[in-house]
Amino acid sequence: AAQFLGKKALVLGLAKSGHAAASLLSACGASVTLNDSAPEDGNPLAEELRTQGVQVIRGGHPDNILDCGFDFIVKNPGIPYTNPVILQAEQLGIPIWTEIELAYLISEAPIIAITGSNGKTTTTTLLYHMLNIGDRNPLIAGNIGTVASTVASKASADEVIVLEASSFQLMGVDEFKPHIAIWTNLYEAHLDYHGSADAYAEAKAQITKNQTETDFLIYNADQPVIKRYIGNTKATLVPFTTKGRSAEGISADSESIYWLGEPIIPRKKITLPGAHNLENILSATAAALLYGCERGAIESVLSSFTGVRHRMQFVTEYDGRKFYNDSKATNTLATKSALSSFETPTILIAGGLDRGHSFEELRPHMTHVKALIGIGETGDRLVQFAESCGVGIVKETGTLHAAIQEAYNVSDKGDVVLLSPACASWDQFPDFEARGDEFIEAVQKLKA
Ligand code: ADP
Repeated sequence: AAQFLGKKALVLGLAKSGHAAASLLSACGASVTLNDSAPEDGNPLAEELRTQGVQVIRGGHPDNILDCGFDFIVKNPGIPYTNPVILQAEQLGIPIWTEIELAYLISEAPIIAITGSNGKTTTTTLLYHMLNIGDRNPLIAGNIGTVASTVASKASADEVIVLEASSFQLMGVDEFKPHIAIWTNLYEAHLDYHGSADAYAEAKAQITKNQTETDFLIYNADQPVIKRYIGNTKATLVPFTTKGRSAEGISADSESIYWLGEPIIPRKKITLPGAHNLENILSATAAALLYGCERGAIESVLSSFTGVRHRMQFVTEYDGRKFYNDSKATNTLATKSALSSFETPTILIAGGLDRGHSFEELRPHMTHVKALIGIGETGDRLVQFAESCGVGIVKETGTLHAAIQEAYNVSDKGDVVLLSPACASWDQFPDFEARGDEFIEAVQKLKA
């Protein structure tokens, strides 16, 4: 884009997004410096940028780095605002952006942005599928997929970018203006980075700060605290609530989903379990309707969507048992919402890295847990906890493969077998994805 021709840009942080931003700005004719505090280690991304004419400085932040007068900085969301270069830049009045600002500035396509403490990936994925089936040409971007500025640089005006935006990224926006914004919910998180709960919420609220009357903000009306942070928005407000039929926005009761008070989709068509997922379904559906999706397209996604990989993902039904992979549940809060998604007898496979945390929070949700199979470091503690909850069958198998066989042995037709570990995976796996993949593989083996 011509707007960056001859501009001086400093990109801080050589991660995937920093590499993408530097490469893009350089291609737009900017003079680009990339600075990273990590030592020179022959990273091929750095070498590639050098061949594109980007000046790459690694191994620390030189004291005088800002002397050459940058027009703006693109900061990796992981770099804190207490970083000395950032503090100095703030004093000098140099704009400090994150890469989603860049994506907005260069994009010919409108943007639908999704933020919130939880449910971003699920909502983004659902909406992407709805727009796809509804022939609205969506492109998915952000944490979940390809770096936003890379997607934006290739997007055309008849496409639409569905962007998962974290609070870290929203801290660094200036003109960023999504046509539709979704704010899923607000829970306390990342206080170490944002400094306070208030600053965290303010960061999320940036999603709507440039929106006008022709734009939409879909927000969680069941959390009144959110309203406090969007009081000044000019966007058209679209509330969502799961607490019964409402004449405004999108709502749901046990029978149906309602748009502006009219029933549009029967609840029994929806395949994705979980009260929290109903919220994600409502906000994705509202965005799809506002973006001109046919109701049929939305319904067909809702009646086939089995969840994002590793997040309450329905894997398969075998011999009357339904298997769910919720490997992403690395804490008790997530396992709590997984357990409350089912009323049927459940075989829970849980356990992992021991951080010494308590499982007490799960107690009220253990009533339909018929068996607990403990794995990993916390396997034995979970077994003791389950016994104290009165769970009839408890076993500790150590490995996940053995746990799945055991879960099958103790289950009956109609049961749910759920991997929702309530612990991080690093005691036995490189990450939660590997743990979930192994679960899927072992379930497929069981079937074979
Ligand atoms: P994010 O991308 O914001 O981390 P995900 O869609 O990946 O969110 O979901 C991660 C976990 O958060 C899920 O496994 C579930 O336990 C929980 N979750 C998802 N949606 C919601 C919601 N709307 N409200 C509360 N918790 C949720």
